[in-house]
Amino acid sequence: MEPDELLGRVDEIVAAGITPELAAEHERGETYPLELVRRLCELGLPALVTERPHRTELFCRAVERVATAWVAPAESVHLQALATCALARHGSPELREEFLARLRQGRVIAGNCLSEPGAGSDLALIATTAEPDGDGYRLNGVKAWVGHAGVAGLLNVYARTGGGGLGGITCFLVDTASPGVEVRRAEDKMGVRALPTAQIAFHDVRVPAGRVVGRVNRGMVAAQSFFVQGRLGIAACAIGLAEAALTRAVTHARTREQFGAPVITFQGVGFLLADASIEIEASRQLLHHACREVDVGGGRSELLAAQAKVLATDTAMKVTANAVQVLGARGYTGAEPVERWMREAKLFQIIEGTNQIQRAAIASRL
Ligand SMILES: Cc1cc2nc3c(=O)[nH]c(=O)nc-3n(C[C@H](O)[C@H](O)[C@H](O)COP(=O)(O)OP(=O)(O)OC[C@H]3O[C@@H](n4cnc5c(N)ncnc54)[C@H](O)[C@@H]3O)c2cc1C
Repeated sequence: MEPDELLGRVDEIVAAGITPELAAEHERGETYPLELVRRLCELGLPALVTERPHRTELFCRAVERVATAWVAPAESVHLQALATCALARHGSPELREEFLARLRQGRVIAGNCLSEPGAGSDLALIATTAEPDGDGYRLNGVKAWVGHAGVAGLLNVYARTGGGGLGGITCFLVDTASPGVEVRRAEDKMGVRALPTAQIAFHDVRVPAGRVVGRVNRGMVAAQSFFVQGRLGIAACAIGLAEAALTRAVTHARTREQFGAPVITFQGVGFLLADASIEIEASRQLLHHACREVDVGGGRSELLAAQAKVLATDTAMKVTANAVQVLGARGYTGAEPVERWMREAKLFQIIEGTNQIQRAAIASRL
């Protein structure tokens, strides 16, 4: 599909399927918008970054448009693409044949299980084990912060099959319906509550050897294949969110009058909004530049993706907080979505590698 046509279809789905009231209701009720996510996946969004040639910039443009209306489905499409990457790039022909089309089209929702209670930024601390058992493996351990927990039918579980460190980890594609998979209570999150996140425990879960994605003890090679994509997709979500906050703040500042004039005419407010517009546009351009580098397999992909993630997510945090400021007392209440957007922005500085970890990665390349 041509880029303009695809983006037009995304806009149609967003216009028909998302209203501010609907988003607020889902966030309050913590209900996952499955049908909406499916429609976006069926349109081919995850395929843009899991089918060659990759069209990462187009994917990020589409995700940004969804996030401008509502972050949860945008992040969900991003997660679905990420959970498909390892299989698409490293899976055996049999596994790809069985699952790839269903994952790309969102017919089965999937998740990535890397983090654990004791293993966050440092994935070398992964303690979940996969022990050989006949012609397969037995999984034991607890994964933490699993996005799509409770709605996913498939999980990429990273478990220890070899010695310590990053070298002894293997990726397994696990059915959530397998005996011994226990999805725990959803985390009580600050934001993005419509997208469930929970711990998942594995009690002697039997996994056939054919479910290994990539090579045994080389799971982190499979994971590396989506770390860059993870940064870019989250940057796109953050830019969409920041754009929504700026739009709402500008509308308010143009219509709210104090001291006989719209508050946007006071430099203290106008400059806040001007800076937001500069930083959002700079974030977007850096993101698209990074995407183009990724799509041609350029050597600066990791560096640019980390830079784009940090700039976009720090910008979203700043812009959403300033939007609350510009809306004054109203901004501090549930009558306006900006307080929710501020809470949602915080997430993006933490996931897909915290912004400190990104800065450390950038510094190491300078
Ligand atoms: C809503 C949500 C959804 C998530 N979804 C998933 C998912 O689907 N799958 C999954 O596997 N994980 C997921 N995560 C986990 C996420 O990837 C981790 O939270 C993240 O990697 C950071 O780990 P941590 O929270 O344990 O922080 P820690 O690693 O414990 O870090 C604590 C603090 O120390 C800083 N820090 C740590 N190491 C360094 C360092 N070397 N240099 C400088 N600062 C450092 C960090 O930046 C942070 O500020 C999710 C998290 C959240 C909140």
